[in-house]
Amino acid sequence: MATRNTVVAGKRRRTRQIMVGDVAVGGGAPISVQSMTTTKTADVEGTLAQIYALAASGADIVRCTCNEPEAAEGLARIVPRSPVPIVADIHFHHERALEALEAGVACLRLNPGNLRKPEEIRLVASEARDRKVPIRIGVNAGSLHPDLYKKHGGATPEALVESAQMELDYFREVGFDDVKISVKASSVPLMIEAYRMLADAVDHPLHLGVTEAGPPPAGLIKSTAGIATLLAEGIGDTIRYSLTADPVEEARAGRQLLEALNLRERKGLDLIACPSCGRAEIDVIGVAKEAQAALESRNLPIQVAVMGCVVNGPGEAREADLGIAAGRKRGHLFIRGQIVRVVPEDQMVEALVEEAEKLVAEGIEARLAAADAGAAREAEADRQALLEAKGEDANRSEEKVELIRRHRGEAHS
Ligand code: SF4
Repeated sequence: MATRNTVVAGKRRRTRQIMVGDVAVGGGAPISVQSMTTTKTADVEGTLAQIYALAASGADIVRCTCNEPEAAEGLARIVPRSPVPIVADIHFHHERALEALEAGVACLRLNPGNLRKPEEIRLVASEARDRKVPIRIGVNAGSLHPDLYKKHGGATPEALVESAQMELDYFREVGFDDVKISVKASSVPLMIEAYRMLADAVDHPLHLGVTEAGPPPAGLIKSTAGIATLLAEGIGDTIRYSLTADPVEEARAGRQLLEALNLRERKGLDLIACPSCGRAEIDVIGVAKEAQAALESRNLPIQVAVMGCVVNGPGEAREADLGIAAGRKRGHLFIRGQIVRVVPEDQMVEALVEEAEKLVAEGIEARLAAADAGAAREAEADRQALLEAKGEDANRSEEKVELIRRHRGEAHS
């Protein structure tokens, strides 16, 4: 709901566009979020349940492994019932790629590091061409072609890019160019460099990811560092977080990153909260968690702020659609920085949720018009009282100095 700027939208790299089912990738299309199921693909109901959970959490495209004939059969049953396009993940066996195409998948992912026979690659590309199904060339630093590893002395950015280009050459031999590419590595600097080189070399859409990023929070940080750096440079058309976690977390993280960069419209709640400091009048962490739990389930597409004090809170969070700041045992509700209501402290979260629902239903202008007439005056009185009581000394320095002196005295006695 809040108006926002983006530092990246204006300078996105120009690419050709491919269609993964009904999702456009590249060519100025919204950047899409991907994730991958962790179920056995042959388990149709289990896999579909996970696909639905991923789609509800922000995934636009979902990949399933096609590692055995039973998985291909599973795909044939999954594809028509899936809410999002399905990509089949292929390693080692080109037969699985052909079966996945037969199953009706929207895209294949081939790993050039372990599907190496040129005649098999050309056969899969010809079949994909005839069926108008795109392929992702999914290069992975950990499974690079041994010849390239030797030639470049390791999994260098040059080696990853050359692997992708060799695969592209095989595809072009059979007139197939409906391709997106990834050059993933678990090393963030390596993947960033490889994607930059690839972006200079081809005009295909790029699928970004840091592979084997590990469990959160480190996995989230590594993925965000790699993906966000490239997105901020205008590189990247579809993204995947590879976390050692429930894939729902991958989808959520991908969606949240794009929303944070203003590359996708806000679909869910964005809860911001101050880090708290000596001025805080409440347990900010506790109230923020309570507010998040209460608001998240309602799926409200707004930015909500929880601020520890009314002295600075409404001003610091004036960009938020809605917020609450604490002061003198009361909660001060504000919309875009304007105080609209003052409630008892123990009703802060309840009042926040109620106002959030009204805000989404009625709009900002209507809720500002419905503000309590005296709320701003009361809030200002609380603010002034707090300023007088605490002055500019947010850290309660004198109390702390006194405590330190007392401890020192006790230690020496
Ligand atoms: S000054 Fe107030 S709003 Fe800012 S960090 Fe401290 S408690 Fe939070």
